[in-house]
Amino acid sequence: MNYEMVIGLETHVELNTKSKIFCSCGGHSSANEPNDCVCPACSGMPGMLPVMNKKVVELAVTAGLMLNCEISRYTTFDKKNYYYPDLPCAYQITQLNHPICTNGVVTLKTSAGKRDIRIKQIHMEEDAGKLVHVGKATCVDFNRTSVPLIEIVTQPDFRSAEEVLTYLNKLKSMFRSGGISECEEGAMRCDVNISVRPEGSTEFGVRTEIKNMASFEAIEKAIRFEVQRHIDAIEFETEELVQETRRYDDATGKTFAMRNKETEADYRYFPDANLMPIIIDDEWLEQIKAAVPEEVDAKVDTYKEAGISEKEVDMLIANHNASKLLDEVVSLGCGAKNVAGWILTDAVSILRKNGKLLGDLDISAEDLAAIIKLVDDGEINRVSGRKILAAVIEEGVDPIAYCKDNKLDEKVDTTVIEEIMDKVLIENAQALEDYRNGKVKAKQALFGACMRALKNTADTDIIKELLERKIDN
Ligand SMILES: [Zn+2]
Repeated sequence: MNYEMVIGLETHVELNTKSKIFCSCGGHSSANEPNDCVCPACSGMPGMLPVMNKKVVELAVTAGLMLNCEISRYTTFDKKNYYYPDLPCAYQITQLNHPICTNGVVTLKTSAGKRDIRIKQIHMEEDAGKLVHVGKATCVDFNRTSVPLIEIVTQPDFRSAEEVLTYLNKLKSMFRSGGISECEEGAMRCDVNISVRPEGSTEFGVRTEIKNMASFEAIEKAIRFEVQRHIDAIEFETEELVQETRRYDDATGKTFAMRNKETEADYRYFPDANLMPIIIDDEWLEQIKAAVPEEVDAKVDTYKEAGISEKEVDMLIANHNASKLLDEVVSLGCGAKNVAGWILTDAVSILRKNGKLLGDLDISAEDLAAIIKLVDDGEINRVSGRKILAAVIEEGVDPIAYCKDNKLDEKVDTTVIEEIMDKVLIENAQALEDYRNGKVKAKQALFGACMRALKNTADTDIIKELLERKIDN
C-alpha cells in the first residue's frame, strides 16, 4: 500500500529587536557572560510588571502581512503555566485566545508544482532561559529569558520533506528581507507534527510531534525517519503508535519518546491581567504596511527580468545582504545583471581565496558602484577592476585613490598591443592555419597565447576584438 505523510509545522523565530519583549534588557545575543542581560522583570522577581515592546508587535504584524494573514485589531496575552528551572515566573507569556495574526497562506514552488500551505496563526511570546551543565552542577542562564519570539503555526498541509524545507527557506528569506529576524542557526526552531495515512484517505493517522529542531538538515532527517517508523508500525505492526512528543537525536538519526503529548488543559492557560490588550488601529497598520518589503516572488521576477541567471537569483534570494547590496548599487545607476556578476562571481572568488563566504562580503554600495563605473566608462579594464575590488574587500581601501595610486587608469596604446599580437600569431602559425582551415577551437589557443603575452595590460574585450579582426581577415 502507498502511504501519504501529513505534516504541520510550528516554527519559533527569534525577533530582531534591540531589547527583550517585556523589559529593556538587550537581546541575549548582546550578552558576553551568562546572566549579563537580566533585570528583575525578566528574572521573575516579585512585584515586577511586564511592559510591552512596541517593535515586537510591528515585526509580528509584518510577518503576518508577508504571509497573507488577517491581522487582529484586538490582541491579548495569556499565561501558559508550567514549571521548569529555566522559566523564572513558572509561566510563559504567550497568546492563546486572541493571537495577532490568523488565516494566512503561503505559496511554495516545488518540483511537483505550486503548493499552498495554510497558516493557522502567528502569535507572540517570550523565550525561556537555558540550563547550562558545568561539571556535576546544573546552572541556569536567564539571558534568553523574555527574548521575543513569534510562533508560526501551519495547518497540516505538507506532504513531503521537500515541501517543508522549501517553506522554511522561504520563511527565512522573507523574514530577513523584512528585518523580522536574521534567522541564524538557533534563532529559528521547529516543532514538526507528523502522521501517516493510506494514500487517498481523508482521515488523520496517529500524530507525533518532534520538538525543538534548529537545523534544516536535522528536520529533513527526522521527518524521513519518523515517517518510516509510522509506516512500519502500520504495515508490519512493529510497535503501537501513540500520540506523544519525541526528540530527534542527531548522532543516531532516530527519534525517541520524550513524554505523552500535553493538552491545552495541562497548561491551565489564563489571560495575563498584567498586560493591557493591544489595539491596532488603521493608522498604525498602514504605517507597518508601508514598510513591508517586496515579496520574495516579486523580487525573483524583477531579477529574472533584468537578465540575472536562475542560479544567481537563487544565490541572491538566499543571501539578504547580497541582494540588498545589489539593489543599492543598481539604484546608483549600474545595470542589475552586470552588478550580479561583480558580486556573485568576482567578489565571491575573492572571498573564497580568503576562506570566506558571500555572507561575509563587506563593501559599501558606493565603493562597488565606483569600481563598476570605472570599468563601464572604459577608464580601466575588467582585470584592473577586479584588482581594485580585491583591495577594497581585503584592505578596505578607497577604490578611486587605489586606482590612481597604482596607475590602473593609464591607457595602453593599441598599436603596442597589435605589435605584440602580430608576434604571437607568427609564433603560433600552426594554430592560425588550423583556425583558417575550420578548426574553431584553435581560436581559443590563439586568444590564450595573446592574453599570456599581454599579461594584464590590456582589456580582454579589446584583445578579443583585435584578434578576431586579424585572424578572420
Ligand atoms: Zn530584563
